[in-house]
Amino acid sequence: MKVFKFGGASVKEANAVKNVANIINLFPKDNLLIVVSAMGKTTNALEKLNRSIYSNTNDIIAHIRTIKDYHYAIVNELFADKTHQVFNELAELFESLAKQTSCSPSENVDYSYDQIVSFGELIATKIISNYLQVVGIDNTWLDVREIIKTNTNYREGLVDWKLTNNLSQKQLLPAYNSYKERKIIVTQGFIAGTTEKTTTTLGREGSDYTASILAYQLNAEEVIIWKDVPGVLNADPKYFSVTEKLNAISYREAIELSYYGATIIHPKTIKPLQNKNIPLSVKSFIAPEDAGTLINNNTQSDSLIPSFIFKVNQLLISLMPKDFSFIAEDNLSKIFACFVKHHVKINLMQNSAISFSVCFDNIPEKAQALITELQQTYKIKYNEHLELITIRHFDQKTIDRVTQDKIILLEQKSRSTAQLVVKNKN
Ligand code: ASP
Ligand code: MG
Repeated sequence: MKVFKFGGASVKEANAVKNVANIINLFPKDNLLIVVSAMGKTTNALEKLNRSIYSNTNDIIAHIRTIKDYHYAIVNELFADKTHQVFNELAELFESLAKQTSCSPSENVDYSYDQIVSFGELIATKIISNYLQVVGIDNTWLDVREIIKTNTNYREGLVDWKLTNNLSQKQLLPAYNSYKERKIIVTQGFIAGTTEKTTTTLGREGSDYTASILAYQLNAEEVIIWKDVPGVLNADPKYFSVTEKLNAISYREAIELSYYGATIIHPKTIKPLQNKNIPLSVKSFIAPEDAGTLINNNTQSDSLIPSFIFKVNQLLISLMPKDFSFIAEDNLSKIFACFVKHHVKINLMQNSAISFSVCFDNIPEKAQALITELQQTYKIKYNEHLELITIRHFDQKTIDRVTQDKIILLEQKSRSTAQLVVKNKN
């Protein structure tokens, strides 16, 4: 069996949903598990809705209306029969959404977030499952919250693998094994459940991870993530006018790329697949027959093309102990504890005898509190508005090219990775 994942862009309008059916029809014999995330930018809209619950009640109705209008436009285009059950199912979902928003807001914003934002995936899968049925693709809608269980760490639920494994063996595997015809299940990405029957989410863009968790449970033969790009590219087209597709990379390379900030695949996706040696393809839903990028344990092609990862809005601080003591283990452990305390993730670091430099995302609320605390013990110099450029499989020529109009503040190289903290000349 294969696991497919369709993300927001691949289901953002009626034609896109029709295209999902066309893609499924390219695989007429396979058992499929189809993981779907919220349509278009619905998750962002639901995030806004959740925020408005804590501020302005007038906005709540307007936000729900926007989300409703958007989905009904799609459904009206897809379903000619206005008595189709999908209309009832959607009405029910929007009613529960409205109910969620009308109860007094929970003290735990993250809890509230998950109860509300999860509607994006529930709505999307209802629409898609029903539509596939209409065009003759028999399928079963599954509430993934019954299978993937997490702890109550809302907004970033940690998967309970043992429980998820048990539930999959009992409820998901038999669904495929006991069926004579080919079996298709449609389910939600990104969301999960707790043993207390509340809803959790796995972190933004977490649907890739869902596909990987379920592929692991089902010993899938492969996972395909359908995207609006031809595959994994060697640079983000947002920052680079010329990009190249990586035809094949290893699990290890994929993890490295996402660690350094490449946003193509959710960072947690690779591990479960690597553990069971399940290949992952990233393919274009616009050109579904093209090869895309194949990710498996073969490392042969990893170093063929250099990859570039940009992180903008970086802050570089250099810490010097006020008492001129060395930057050694005792000082370092205190510095790290301070980063942990303020939830600031370090993107790059470097030390000398009496100075320690750290580069991280400039999130003002966090950065200011961190710096204020560190200033009690250290003299601090800092630079703002920087970029962190990571180049995998670099050579000097590529470094020179990307740093042409830049001043390099810090440079670090390993055998396969160069990282540069830079600012624009002028
Ligand atoms: N819909 C969720 C998000 O936009 C999950 C996903 O797209 O993977 O973050
Ligand atoms: Mg998405």
